[in-house]
This record gives sequence, C-alpha cells and structure tokens, in this order.
Amino acid sequence: MLKSIVSITKTRRNPDFKEIEKAVRKGISLIGGIEDIISSGDLVLINPSWVAPPADPESAVITCPEVTKAVADMVREMGAEPVIAESSCVGVDTEKVIENSGYNDLRNQGYRVVDLKKTAKVKIPIDNGYVLKEVETFELVTQAHVIISVPKLKTHDQTEMTCSLKKMKGLESDKDKRRMHQVGIFKGISDINTVFKPALTVVDAILCQEGLGPIFGRPLEMDLVVAGKDPVSVDSICSQIIGYKPEEVLVTKFAAERGLGVMDNEFIEVVGEKLEKVKRRFMRSIEDNPVQVEGFSLIHGGVTCTGCRNGVMSALADMRRDNQLMHLPGITVITGDPPIPVGISKDSIVAVGQCVPAKKRGERFVKGCPPNNVFIVQAIMGERGK
Ligand code: SF4
Repeated sequence: MLKSIVSITKTRRNPDFKEIEKAVRKGISLIGGIEDIISSGDLVLINPSWVAPPADPESAVITCPEVTKAVADMVREMGAEPVIAESSCVGVDTEKVIENSGYNDLRNQGYRVVDLKKTAKVKIPIDNGYVLKEVETFELVTQAHVIISVPKLKTHDQTEMTCSLKKMKGLESDKDKRRMHQVGIFKGISDINTVFKPALTVVDAILCQEGLGPIFGRPLEMDLVVAGKDPVSVDSICSQIIGYKPEEVLVTKFAAERGLGVMDNEFIEVVGEKLEKVKRRFMRSIEDNPVQVEGFSLIHGGVTCTGCRNGVMSALADMRRDNQLMHLPGITVITGDPPIPVGISKDSIVAVGQCVPAKKRGERFVKGCPPNNVFIVQAIMGERGK
C-alpha cells in the first residue's frame, strides 16, 4: 500500500511573507506539488480558518493571510482561479473578520476574498451519513473544482484540536453549524467531510493556540507549515505534533474509521522535519482557566456550539477587563442542556441561549442564538449591572 505523505517545514522565528512563502512552496513540493490536483481554468476554493475577528494578529485566532496568499499565488501560476472563502462561527459577521485582518489587504491587492454568509445557499445530500442526511452549504462551494483547506492549528474546547477536518464546518451555513452540535459534533464533522473533500491541506502552524482555543487560547509560536493531500493524515500528524495520540482526537478517529484517509503512522510517510523533533505538548483546553474565581461555575451542555461558548467567554473577558470578577462567586452559568448539579438554587443560575430548556431557565435567562455578551454580563450582575 502506498503511504500517505505529510510534510513538515520549519520557518525562521517571526517569519515574514517571503519566509512563509518559501515554507509553503517547499512543503507542497515535498508532497509532490499541485500539478496532479489543479488544472488550468479550475475554480479553486481556498478555505482558511476565520472563526471570529482576531483582537490582533498575534492572537492566533485565524489562519494568517500570508499562508493563504502563498497558496493562492501557486494556484494562479497553474492558470487556475483562486477564491479565498469561508463563513465564520455562528453569530459572527465574517466581513468583520476580513476587515480586522490582513485579508482586506489581499482583497485590495486583487485577490477574490468572499464572505460565504453573503452568498447563495444550497443543500447537498450526504450518503450513508452517521448523523446527517444532508448539509446546507454555499453554491460557490459546490461550483469549485478543487477545495484547498488552510486551517490554523489550535487546541479546541470541544474537539481537543482544530485542524483540517474540523475546518470544513466553515463551509456550512450557520443553521447547519448549530444543528451539528445537536446531532453530535464528532460524527457530524466526519459526515460533512464525505462531501467537502479538500484535495490539499496546508496548515498554518506558525503561531498556534494552546489552552482555551479556538478563540480564547494562548498564542504559541511553532513556526511550522504542515502539508498533505490526505486531511486525515495531516490531522493525525498535527495532533501528534501538539502532544495527542491521533485516536484521542475523535474527529480524526471517526474520519479514519469510515475510510476518509489514514491515521496510523504505519501508513504515513513524514517528510521534511522529523516529527519527534518538532513535537511540543500543548496545554489542553481543559487545563486552561482564564477566569479562576472560587464559587463560580460554568457548565456547557453537550449541545452547546461555538456561538454560546464564545459569547460567555467574551462576557467573562469583559468582566475581567472591567474589574467585575468579584460579582461571579455564587453564580452558575449554563448553556445548552446540561445536568444541573445538586444543591444549586435556581436563582443563582444564569441560563444563556435558547438551547437551555424552559424548565431550567429561571429569572436570569439570556435569550438569543447566540446571545449578546453585554446581556450575559447584565444577567450575571443582576441589580448591580443596572
Ligand atoms: S443558543 Fe447557543 S448553543 Fe444553542 S445553537 Fe444558539 S448559539 Fe449555539
């Protein structure tokens, strides 16, 4: 059996565009180039991670534009048309991500940069899905001859890691992103990867995030570009780089089990840098706690999606900034439909988002999908908030 090839390329510290471009080109050349997957005239959808607007480029929330630009330039050299497109997480204005990052500069330089949320939606069937029979996506995605995934390597508070397979969620409509959390995210992601099949993955592992990713994690410089044509193999190698066994990341495990690619090192050839040499254990999301306040609890139910997780973390970050954390003791914030621990009084519960069932909501319910973080802060502070 032919092995799947994954390249690991190291850049210098703090690389500029020239250095990043060199690493991207070398990484792609090490896996055999793109001539076998792209033809002149193809429409090539390049899909970076734009989960939410980055506070600054050093926050490592989104794929850095330099990696995406380097890939787009290679596509252009093939006589094909690159289109850089993505839809951010539920409730986030994708255009704000473009405006608050170097992607607006790419647009000004003549690259086609598209907010998928503003484009026409279509439904496509999923044959033999574990949990999904169809997915709502965007017409542009179905028109593309080739998809190139350009994820950012980060830890993730729900899926341990986010890389190429998880990234495909950005090709779903907001409605289906929400639904994914209700039907089961691990199997749901493997379902959508049966229809969104990137022919190439180029991972931005230059400035990564550890801890409470994918938005509120801690930036960590790795200076790596990882590339491959099998997204399962790429995710497997990336998970090992950051200190997981591949099967610990259930998204990778389910994708490998249904034959979307190979996960075992026995069937993967790593070229470029040695895997052992670049490994570094990332802080898990569960090990990170940016708001350590005794007597305060945050409980996310299984159905909670990035919208409410993000909203609550933004609210807590606002309270930390405004020196309001002293109002947290005695409060339990819940999202989704979690079990309520025994002994918690209903009036101490702040229920966030419409996924919380009516019987668990109480007086301090914050409506919305996702709710605004300002209202979450007000609900936590009660009378004091007024
Ligand atoms: S209420 Fe919150 S958890 Fe539920 S779908 Fe909306 S954003 Fe997601």
